[in-house]
Amino acid sequence: MKSYIKIDGWKSNIRFSSAHIIPEYEKCGRLHGHSYAVHIKIVGEPDKKGIIVDFTQVKKILKEIADGLDHKVLIPEENNLANIEKHENFVKIVVLNKEYIFPVEDCVFLPIVSTSAENLASYILDLFLKRAKLSKNVESVEVGVDEGYGQGAFIRN
Ligand SMILES: [Zn+2]
Repeated sequence: MKSYIKIDGWKSNIRFSSAHIIPEYEKCGRLHGHSYAVHIKIVGEPDKKGIIVDFTQVKKILKEIADGLDHKVLIPEENNLANIEKHENFVKIVVLNKEYIFPVEDCVFLPIVSTSAENLASYILDLFLKRAKLSKNVESVEVGVDEGYGQGAFIRN
C-alpha cells in the first residue's frame, strides 16, 4: 500500500527570507526579497511500524537547508547575464549595467542558473537527497518552494 507524508513549511516553520536578483525579468532585475517556505511530500510504503520516514529527521534536514539560505543574498553562480567577481571579503556583481557589492559572509553561492522558485526547489531537493538516509520503502520525494504565501514551484525526483 502506498502512502505519503507531507510537511508544510509555513506551518512547520521551515522558512527563509532572502534577497535576490533575477536579471532575465526587468522588474525582478532589481535587488528585492521574499519570504520563502519549503514543503516536502515523501511517497512510500510504511514499514512494519507503520512509518515511511521519521518526520523529525526530515524537518531537521530541511530546517538546516533553510537556515543556510536565511537572511542571505542568493547568488546563482551559473547565471550568464550576471558577472560575478569574488574577492577576498566582498562580491561584486554586475548585472544589467548595475553594480552591486556585498560582503562575502552575507551571500550564499548556489550552483544554479537563476534563483527562481523552480531552481531553488531543485537545489533543495538535491541537498535533501544527499543528506537524508532514506530507506528503500521510499518511492519518491517532492520538494516545493513557495515564494511568498500562495505561490510555489514543486519538483519530484
Ligand atoms: Zn524575486
